[in-house]
Amino acid sequence: MRKPPPISREWVIALIRGFIAASPLNTMKRPAEEPAWDDALVGFASGADPMWQQYKEYVGPFHWTPWEVFSQHCPKTPAAAEELTVVSWVLPQREAVRRANRRAKRFPAEEWARIRVYGEEFNAALRRHVAERLTRAGHAAVAPMLAPNWAIVKSQRFSYASTWSERHAAHAAGLGTFGLCDGLITARGKAMRAGSVVAKLTLPPTPRPYADHRAYCLFFADGTCGKCIDRCPVHAISKAGHDKEKCRQHLARSRAHVKKAYRFEGYGCGLCQVGVPCEAGIPVKAAREALERGELPPPPPPLA
Ligand code: SF4
Ligand code: SF4
Repeated sequence: MRKPPPISREWVIALIRGFIAASPLNTMKRPAEEPAWDDALVGFASGADPMWQQYKEYVGPFHWTPWEVFSQHCPKTPAAAEELTVVSWVLPQREAVRRANRRAKRFPAEEWARIRVYGEEFNAALRRHVAERLTRAGHAAVAPMLAPNWAIVKSQRFSYASTWSERHAAHAAGLGTFGLCDGLITARGKAMRAGSVVAKLTLPPTPRPYADHRAYCLFFADGTCGKCIDRCPVHAISKAGHDKEKCRQHLARSRAHVKKAYRFEGYGCGLCQVGVPCEAGIPVKAAREALERGELPPPPPPLA
């Protein structure tokens, strides 16, 4: 069999950014034809990274490792864990969308709800595009979130979780750390959506510029902030963390509002992602400056 051509990290980044720039699916479906997204942060993690095993212990045994999801969905292409790469991307919310949702007090702004539905449809198309292009280039690939057996699972620790989490993949790929509200704080902030693909492809992983999985959140860094607590209209965030069930119920209630006020089938909230210090960047000064200087911390301890 012919050897697949070499693929670089730059090739993958250009593939993702090219689709964002050129795809007609990148739309908020409004007459003004604004795009849903205008940029992406991209990171890479090895399929053999010990963090995947730590997720099994921390999130639950049902959370797939890259090898598990790849072996299930690409059975004709045997691969060892170290031959796999997780390509992860973050789509930062545009300023206009964040600004609109900053004004929201109970239910999402129309722009935010449109991103939740149409922006996420684009994100699904991006997952398909990346997986298909890599496969065509000779690197079998699967988008875990599009796998027919991807599922939400009841979890003792988190009330519910899923078999693959885009935020956890992005964390493993060096793109961010978790905040008090459970969102992932990235170099472009917490107002974002994420996606990923697992491919039989060996690329250098992105170094993780943090030693702690909450390093970018002010509450965990120095005990201050907590602004996301005040932003939540249903008190689903407290100093103890994020109440997923309360949040889920509010999201369900938002459907009626979106239909009545904006006249489309949608939902959303994200009030805790805007009007907060981590909305569009890393609020912990030392962590932000270390990232800008390209410094790496000592190897991280296991997730607690
Ligand atoms: S608003 Fe403050 S406490 Fe909440 S996640 Fe952001 S930095 Fe952490
Ligand atoms: S925790 Fe949930 S309900 Fe509360 S502001 Fe955030 S997304 Fe909305």
